[in-house]
Amino acid sequence: MHDLTRRLPASAYRYLNGTLRCEGVALDAIADNLGTPFYCYSAGRLRERYRAFAAALDPLGVKIHFAMKANGNQAVLKLFAAEGAGTDIVSGGELARSLAAGISGDRIIFSGVGKTAAEIDAALASNVHQLNVESFEELRLVDMIAAGRGIVAPVVLRINPDVDAETHAKITTGKRDNKFGIEAALLDRLDNEVKALANLRILGVAAHIGSQIMKPAPLVAAYKRLGEIADELKRRGLPIERIDLGGGFGVPYQNQTELSPASLAAAIAATVAGRGYALAIEPGRTLVADAGVLVAGVTYVKDAGHMRFLVLDAAMNDLIRPAMYDAYHDIVPVREPAPNADLVEYDVVGPICESSDTFAKHLRLPEMAAGDRVVLATAGAYGATMSSTYNARALAPEVLVDGHRFAVIRRRIDVAEQIGWDSVPEWV
Ligand SMILES: *Cc1c(COP(=O)(O)O)cnc(C)c1O
Repeated sequence: MHDLTRRLPASAYRYLNGTLRCEGVALDAIADNLGTPFYCYSAGRLRERYRAFAAALDPLGVKIHFAMKANGNQAVLKLFAAEGAGTDIVSGGELARSLAAGISGDRIIFSGVGKTAAEIDAALASNVHQLNVESFEELRLVDMIAAGRGIVAPVVLRINPDVDAETHAKITTGKRDNKFGIEAALLDRLDNEVKALANLRILGVAAHIGSQIMKPAPLVAAYKRLGEIADELKRRGLPIERIDLGGGFGVPYQNQTELSPASLAAAIAATVAGRGYALAIEPGRTLVADAGVLVAGVTYVKDAGHMRFLVLDAAMNDLIRPAMYDAYHDIVPVREPAPNADLVEYDVVGPICESSDTFAKHLRLPEMAAGDRVVLATAGAYGATMSSTYNARALAPEVLVDGHRFAVIRRRIDVAEQIGWDSVPEWV
């Protein structure tokens, strides 16, 4: 039998007395209290991940900006802020969330291909550290808005380095025909256009080539390219002093080997470190993924004759990654199986009326029964932030565990509250 808990970090999740715990708290105790499904995060593991990256990157002078779209809960942001992190944001909503968590503008990088005028204005009003600009059109808009405020906007150019991140097509962002960044070949236009824009200061270059990158090679290629472009733009007289290396560091969902902080540091040391540029990275997933699980109840074990389904009370609205990216999340029983328990094959599904509401096919698990609980592992990134109320289902609560304490850090948003979001015009 494979080790059922292999995808759960042992510093955070372990069986004790026959039941799975997050740190010092039994997941059953939280579930009895709160119901299922819910997200559970280990504060200890979040700190451990952050500190591992900080320890590897601090010596190279690399600043960490947590890409909060992976997990934007206020408690998670405050935890990372206390560790010294800034944020990488992609919307005005994330700007508001960062500021509300006490992360001031000078620790915020604003990325994104479609920033609206209102979002740019709000970012400038908050004195963000930099706007990562993705097109000449956006440069002109930022200049205009900065002029209106009578300020000079700190701008970094997001370059499309045309590097294949060798990851899933839907999360590849650094190829020429992806919508992201400014093509390096177009940078010649800067000479004519940008020098006329008086309310911008182009302080650096950035790239983010994709997500769930498992090998250093594409990162090394992108960093190298960024270094060359930074040097070249500096030669042309731009005040380039920053290089933003983006995020995208993969985590093992299944059997992959992870990209370690040490290999990331080696990629940076081999390319852009020690050349006088202020360096930043924007990790999202890798800081939060394995600290989090989605805890679900088994509603039915459905015997379909030729196969068996495990029907959970969690669904694609709670965790959409399997439906959206064919992603895999390991599934682990909360009740510890006997060491020699026979394994049975299940398709693990949610209750939603779409065949894509499937978490795993042909998964071998110990015999399960209705009323049992399972965790979907590695769910701390792009889980809760991508959840929805599809099928008029509740938004699942989020729980943070720290040692022997736990707290609900987002309550369940149930249908009664959701009905209140609607309004019916008199003439209906
Ligand atoms: C999403 C994103 C990140 C973080 O990606 P991860 O794969 O979660 O590390 C970093 N930078 C930008 C610009 C992004 O859009």
